[in-house]
Amino acid sequence: MVSGTAKVAGVIGWPVAHSLSPRLHGYWLEEYRIDGAYIPMPVRPDDLQAVMRALPKMGLRGCNLTLPHKELVVPFLDHPDEDVKAIGAANTIYIGQDGSLHGMNTDVYGFMRNIEPHLAGRRGKAVVLGAGGAARGVCYGLIKEGFGEIILINRTQARAEALREYFPGRLLVRPWKDRSSVLEGCDLLVNATSLGMAGHDPLDIALDALPKDSAVADIIYTPLHTPLLVAAKDRGNIVIDGLGMLIHQAIPGFKHWFGMTPEVTPGLRDYLLKAVPKA
Ligand code: NAP
Repeated sequence: MVSGTAKVAGVIGWPVAHSLSPRLHGYWLEEYRIDGAYIPMPVRPDDLQAVMRALPKMGLRGCNLTLPHKELVVPFLDHPDEDVKAIGAANTIYIGQDGSLHGMNTDVYGFMRNIEPHLAGRRGKAVVLGAGGAARGVCYGLIKEGFGEIILINRTQARAEALREYFPGRLLVRPWKDRSSVLEGCDLLVNATSLGMAGHDPLDIALDALPKDSAVADIIYTPLHTPLLVAAKDRGNIVIDGLGMLIHQAIPGFKHWFGMTPEVTPGLRDYLLKAVPKA
């Protein structure tokens, strides 16, 4: 139950029905007995500017943004933070005392917090597959964390080259056909393509050259155990699924809107997993 003074936030997407964020924030709101609500808000891209203008007037605390709005929203922000400026995309907005829109990109934070405990300080060579919106955040996170060598590989090489221009001198682009051979000496392999997601083809890659003690992260979480992670686990690699990224990216927004830092617990993961397809 919410009262007349409940704090309200939500997620804006088109479509938005697939989003796990209402379930995630709803769990925390109930866990901490907060008088608040987090709602799905289906918004067409053409209506985004009007909706952004209306948010403060409606008394909302802020919102998350999901596809296709993360890049489209940037021109409407009054205060984009450094991460938003660096990668040109925002996924979390909170409203200042004066009604202005503060934009953050917590996908970067979520990705890094999710993988950090598994890296054991190794920040040598990373290979990133994909050059879409998610890959941009992944590359930026790896650069911020000080990875020595970051190799970027995408089916459409021109898109990888465009991403390289975002971070001059920090990314090496290799052709898609080299995705298996570049794994030699790699500390971290990240799948940031949509390959392996439910309803998509699996990622076609041979892991033979990958050191057995390196980590493999998939940012996909539907299913949780992608074919890539299953193959990597079978040969003894450390595997990191995408659900942790989703959970961690939600923390800064929750803190701004509802006034406390929520915890990531096994109970929360189990609750979210009930809504995630098995394979
Ligand atoms: P996007 O902008 O549409 O990019 C899709 C990427 O997948 C591109 O690099 C694309 O390559 C590649 N790809 C698609 N089909 C392919 C195929 N048949 N063969 C080779 N490459 C293919 O999507 P995105 O926003 O970056 O998201 C990527 C994935 O990350 C999605 O599955 C999304 O659900 C997931 N994600 C997870 C989180 C999380 O919190 N865990 C957050 C954000 C996104 P081309 O450039 O050649 O088309």
